Amino acid sequence: MTKHIVKSFNLDHTKVTAPFIRLADEIISPKGDIIVKLDLRFTQPNKEFMDMPAMHTMEHLLATYLRDGGKYKIIDFSPMGCQTGFYLTLFGPVDLAEFKDYFKACLKLVAEAQTIPGTQEKECGNYKSHSLANAKKFALNFLNADAEILK
Ligand SMILES: [Zn+2]
Repeated sequence: MTKHIVKSFNLDHTKVTAPFIRLADEIISPKGDIIVKLDLRFTQPNKEFMDMPAMHTMEHLLATYLRDGGKYKIIDFSPMGCQTGFYLTLFGPVDLAEFKDYFKACLKLVAEAQTIPGTQEKECGNYKSHSLANAKKFALNFLNADAEILK
């Protein structure tokens, strides 16, 4: 059995500057589908962290907006345990410059959001842990910093 090295552990987290959009992985399925995993980094690793309510709200909003925009077939959007960003898995190929424009349009919707989807007790596993104000703050930070693209 071959060992699989988690590729993000090979990223030198001391040598990157957040925010950024990074191609974390690209896999071709046996049937030829291209599956792309993106690292969407909001805060500087080991320096600044998103609070959990902000991350949780951002997760609910972007999970909705990234799919609603319809440009990509989204497989999964999930928060990083280190609280510095999110992973987005989708069907490729993905032009990262085009994706960046799409992602920024989604973040503008976060910045303008009035409500958070899926916050009823039956819809969410921690429905009281949300902060729309803080999610907006991190969305604006990303938008104002003009994120770098890393391949
Ligand atoms: Zn939730």
